[in-house]
Amino acid sequence: MEELIISIDNLKEIARELFNNDCRVIGTTAENKFKVIDDPEQLILNPNSVPTGSSFKEFFFPKTEPLFFYKQNNSSIDLIDPVIDKSRIVVIGAKPCDAAALPIISKVFNWDYKDDLFNTRNDNSLIIGMSCHYNDEFCFCNDVGGSPENRKGSDVFLKPLADNYFKAASVTPKGEAFIKEYQKYFEKDLGKNKPLVRKEENPNHFDYDKVKTWLDNNFENKFWDTAGEMCLGCAQCAFVCPTCHCFDIVDEQNGSCAGRRAKNWDACQFSLFTKHASGHNPRDNQEKRYRQRISHKFKYYNDKFDEILCTGCGRCSRGCPVSLDILQIVEEINSLSQKSNAI
Ligand code: SF4
Ligand code: SF4
Repeated sequence: MEELIISIDNLKEIARELFNNDCRVIGTTAENKFKVIDDPEQLILNPNSVPTGSSFKEFFFPKTEPLFFYKQNNSSIDLIDPVIDKSRIVVIGAKPCDAAALPIISKVFNWDYKDDLFNTRNDNSLIIGMSCHYNDEFCFCNDVGGSPENRKGSDVFLKPLADNYFKAASVTPKGEAFIKEYQKYFEKDLGKNKPLVRKEENPNHFDYDKVKTWLDNNFENKFWDTAGEMCLGCAQCAFVCPTCHCFDIVDEQNGSCAGRRAKNWDACQFSLFTKHASGHNPRDNQEKRYRQRISHKFKYYNDKFDEILCTGCGRCSRGCPVSLDILQIVEEINSLSQKSNAI
C-alpha cells in the first residue's frame, strides 16, 4: 500500500464530517482529557503529552448503565430493555497504552457471557492510534509487551511528522476501509515532512516472565503484608485504569413499583467487593485486596486469557493519593524473583 500522510487540519475535517453524520468522535482536548468532540477545533493531538488522567474506557464501558427497567402492574411485572446506542464511535489520537486496552478487556466481556452492551460499542468503533513521545518515571509500556509504537488495538495508526502532519497507515481491514472512505483528506507521502524524533528510548524495568513465576509461587509471601499497607482503598487506580473492568449489578428502585437493574463500576480495592451475605469477607484487609489487584493484573488474567491486564500507562500511580506506585511494586517483585533464584 502506498505511504500516506494527513495534516491536522484534514484530521479535523474528518472529525467534522463524522459528527455531522451522528458519529461520536472521542478525542483529546486542550485540558488533556478524552471528551466527545463537537467542534473540530477542540481536537488536540500532542504526542508529547502525559497520558490523560482517565482512559477512554468509559465510552465503551460506562460508569453506570441499565441492563433493564422494571415496572409493576398489579400482579405482573413488565421488563423493558434499554435502548442501545448503536452510533459509530471514532477515537482520534489514542496512545498505544490506551488503544491496546480494548482488545485486552474485550476478552473478559466475551468469556462465559457475551456482553452486548460492550460488544455493540466495540464493533461500531474505529480507533485511530498515535505513537507516543512521552515518558516519565511512571511509564512502563515496554515491560508489559507494548511500546510507544505499538499498534495493538488501533485500526489506523499515525506517526507525527514535522509541520503538523502525520504519517498514516491502516492496521486492520476496518482501518483500510476508513482511509478509503475519507481518502480525499489523505496525501501521498513525498518525504517532505521529516518524522519527529523521540528524545530517548523508554527504559526496561522488569522481566515480566520472572514476575509471573514469582507470583505463581508466592501467594502467602510476607511481601504482601507490607506491599499494600499504605493503600486507602479509594479505587482511584481502578477507575482511571484502561484495563480495570470490575462491575457490580444492583437493583435501583425508583418509587415503590418501578426501577432498573444497573451495571456500575466497582473495584477490588473496596472492602465490600468480596463481602459475602453472611458477613464473611475472604479479603478482610487492604493488604489482601492489594495482593489481589497486583495478582489479577500480572498473573490471573494472563493465566485465563493470555494477556497482561496492564498496559503500563502509569496513570494509577500518577493519581494515587498516597503515591503507591505500581511500577515500584512490580520492580520489587522482580528483585525478589532474582533473590529466590539465587538461593
Ligand atoms: S489509588 Fe492508591 S490508595 Fe487508592 S486504592 Fe489505588 S493504590 Fe490504594
Ligand atoms: S494498572 Fe496502572 S499502569 Fe497498568 S494499565 Fe492500569 S492504570 Fe495503567
